[in-house]
Amino acid sequence: MSDLQSNRSGGGAEPASKVDVVIVGAGFAGLYMLYRLRQLGLLVRVYEAGGGVGGTWFWNRYPGARCDIESMDYSYSFSHELEQEWKWTERYATQPEILRYLNHVADRFDLRRNIQFDTRVTSAVFDEATNRWAIQTDGGARVSARFCIMATGCLSAAKVPDFKGLETFEGRWYHTGRWPHEAVDFTGQRVGVIGTSSSGIQVIPLVAEQAAHLFVFQRTPSFSVPARNTPIDPAYESWMKANYAEYRRKARESRAGVVMDVNEKSALDVSPEEREREYKARWEKGGTGFLGAFSDLRIRRESNETAAEFVRARIRETVRDPAVAEALMPRTYPLGTRRLCVDTHYYETFNRDNVTLVDVKQSPIEELTPKGLRTRSAEYELDIIVFATGFDAMTGALLNIDIRGRGNVTLRQKWADGPRTYLGLAIAGFPNLFTITGPGSPSVFSNTIVSIEQHVDWLTDCIAYLMDRRFKCIEATVEAEDGWVAHARELVERTLFPLADSWYIGANIPGKPRVFMPYVGGVGAYRKKCDAVAAHGYEGFTLTR
Ligand code: FAD
Ligand code: NAP
Repeated sequence: MSDLQSNRSGGGAEPASKVDVVIVGAGFAGLYMLYRLRQLGLLVRVYEAGGGVGGTWFWNRYPGARCDIESMDYSYSFSHELEQEWKWTERYATQPEILRYLNHVADRFDLRRNIQFDTRVTSAVFDEATNRWAIQTDGGARVSARFCIMATGCLSAAKVPDFKGLETFEGRWYHTGRWPHEAVDFTGQRVGVIGTSSSGIQVIPLVAEQAAHLFVFQRTPSFSVPARNTPIDPAYESWMKANYAEYRRKARESRAGVVMDVNEKSALDVSPEEREREYKARWEKGGTGFLGAFSDLRIRRESNETAAEFVRARIRETVRDPAVAEALMPRTYPLGTRRLCVDTHYYETFNRDNVTLVDVKQSPIEELTPKGLRTRSAEYELDIIVFATGFDAMTGALLNIDIRGRGNVTLRQKWADGPRTYLGLAIAGFPNLFTITGPGSPSVFSNTIVSIEQHVDWLTDCIAYLMDRRFKCIEATVEAEDGWVAHARELVERTLFPLADSWYIGANIPGKPRVFMPYVGGVGAYRKKCDAVAAHGYEGFTLTR
């Protein structure tokens, strides 16, 4: 009997150094993975670098942080009781509310007893003799596991640019993705925010309300649509709770993991008046549903330009200073090929007397100084700098761990030219190691919770299958991986995405290989492919006893 099977019935106290599964990360993904694997009766240990559960929502505590998928959608669907008893208060939940929810989930399902907090996994090495992973943490702990599941998050490796002189800056500085637990008071301060994408756009209006003066350092302007956030209408909540099962089914089968009203027409097949009406209705409704205005916005440049021009016109009519308005208008990439931002009073903020937009494309930031920041053409005195500069997305958290597969080959070596996976779930040469929402899966192109639940459910079934048939090892074949990489590339090349410098393609990290990382085929189609792989006895994988 394998130790996996002998542990299966026990499910009690964990031996110090041997478990069935190690999960790295205790965000939405790690928590649900733990829940499911414990149901199989396995010994599971979760390591989490943070001091609590929540992942993204534990770390990103900056003012204004909230989701841009509606809260009743951006939540687990696995427990009927959970979704019925939890009460979301706003259309888009704030970070504290999502964190409360995840703490509630951890308590309700008694998950904490298998999680070791404040512990970072530093290495994971596959032992070919025993078919087990040797995992080491920053505290020096070693654990041996049959399976290692990386629930490390696509957006968890915060990136502060390597600005010269950062260590000389005498003021305070913060990264949005590593925000302190105590509130930061900006009152009377001269503040600089670097970065004007999703995080910057959320934090800027709130900092502006407090700061003596706010300098916004913008390198690339973003397209942003209004959130039109409101308290949740009790009638809507009741309807949703009565119809959750059917609604969730539709979301799982959809393209982006949300039930969206997508207009099947091309933007070029309708009159200018109809086009304007369609954009206006969606703009008034608020949120990313704007992208559903026409079916070809992400595949046809001319169609896309009509949507881009609509948003530019809104910027023009909102921002009083025409030069500032012009500087805020994206012109170098199609709308939606970088993450479409969702804001509350972002553009309006630039009408305030205490806010200055600084174009650091024309005049880049050269260094931080003891007193502030110097661009090529001017110096800015600052008390506080906020880095809203993003993440080493999708691969950063994985490559921060020294992962070694067969033949002691490191993941860093294997991915030197960019990530290669099978289904975004597994990597050839790295048996019994899985990634949740890994590169090559829809992950960040979806309501991530839908994608996470799909991966976790698939992995749970896979591990149960292996156990029931006494397989010790599962490994993606090189052929299956090559095929998946080629398929994913072929799909994205049919879209406008490659036209943008985005974190999707690694452009935000100097020296990162330019490989488009998320899978653009849609969550519904992707789910079918994953299910077919499983139904055919894990096609594309080698299973060994
Ligand atoms: P995470 O929540 O990132 O959790 C990963 C965890 O792994 C982290 O806690 C991290 O500390 C831990 N970890 C990483 N490496 C190690 C290691 N070596 N050792 C130990 N622990 C480690 N998605 C949406 O779909 N809709 C939204 O509206 C949305 N809004 C977002 C807003 C912000 C500000 C950000 C940053 C992301 C947002 N996302 C959104 C994406 C979000 O990351 C996912 O929705 C989801 O929270 C990811 O959950 P996860 O468990 O996969 O990863
Ligand atoms: P991001 O999209 O990568 O944006 C980083 C910003 O920092 C960009 O404006 C970038 O400019 C700028 N920047 C980086 N390095 C710079 C430098 N050296 N000099 C000047 N500017 C620099 O990161 P993010 O805003 O944190 O968002 C990341 C992702 O998290 C989002 O795409 C989204 O998936 C998620 N998120 C979602 C929400 C939400 O509303 N739900 C909120 C926050 C985050 P360039 O564009 O020129 O590189």
